[in-house]
Amino acid sequence: MTTMNGAGTLDNKVALVTGGSRGIGAAVALRLAEDGADVALTYQGSAGAAEEVAAKITAMGRTGWAVRADSADPEAVRGVVAAVAERFGRLDVLVNNAGVGAMGPVGEVTLDQVDRVLEVNVRAPYLYAQAALEHLADGGRIVSIGSCIAQRTAFAGGVLYATSKAALIGFTKGLARELGPRGITVNLVHPGPIDTDMNPADGDSADFQRGFTALGRYGTAAEIADAVSYLAGESARYVTGAELAVDGGFAV
Ligand code: NDP
Repeated sequence: MTTMNGAGTLDNKVALVTGGSRGIGAAVALRLAEDGADVALTYQGSAGAAEEVAAKITAMGRTGWAVRADSADPEAVRGVVAAVAERFGRLDVLVNNAGVGAMGPVGEVTLDQVDRVLEVNVRAPYLYAQAALEHLADGGRIVSIGSCIAQRTAFAGGVLYATSKAALIGFTKGLARELGPRGITVNLVHPGPIDTDMNPADGDSADFQRGFTALGRYGTAAEIADAVSYLAGESARYVTGAELAVDGGFAV
């Protein structure tokens, strides 16, 4: 019998969401808990916000756990995966969400910015997946958050960010091929402009970005969480190596 996504779909499953304290990651963590999962979420600096998300999850009758882990620190990444596996005894869904942006012309971007963006946006998903391999159950899920900028560089100044998010396409396809025999799916969601601290819908460039979408509006973190919920659930069992644009038509 086929199970639809939604409440109860992820009962008895454990999810790890990176960057779950704010924005898209917080919405994803809450949504996966609504679907039935216990959820561990990482953060870098926003301890209070992360604890609030964890508390909301616990109030839903699931277990929420906020863990500080800088995605740029390989030991922290490995440590949090091991800690989640030990505490919950399993890991079913990994969501690589934590990310940073750095806009500017190629000639003005510093070496430190290049390193930071690649460490957090590219190396961390790789290391999270690597560490999760031994714990992920058959039928497990890896979902990463890319960007519409990886599919269409609509404006100048986004080379570094686009480079980092386009790398996740190769990561997703390669890993989907490698983990297919275990029944583990690996997919990538490309958000369009989403109203968060990183990209507020009333920010200086908001109207400019809105103009590139077919729908003419910003998306919400909950709209990205819907897509992640789908990919994490039973309905998406035959979807792997896919890029799912949830971008209001930014890439068309
Ligand atoms: P926010 O800046 O609003 O939130 C970022 C989250 O990631 C926070 O929880 C933050 O933790 C965490 N984080 C950042 N750096 C690190 C780090 N080094 N280690 C651990 N956690 C970290 O971003 P969004 O919610 O907007 O973005 C989420 C993802 O979606 C990113 O990958 C982003 O690139 C992508 N995206 C966003 C779009 C948008 O328009 N908003 C569009 C396309 C893609 P803390 O609170 O502790 O700082």
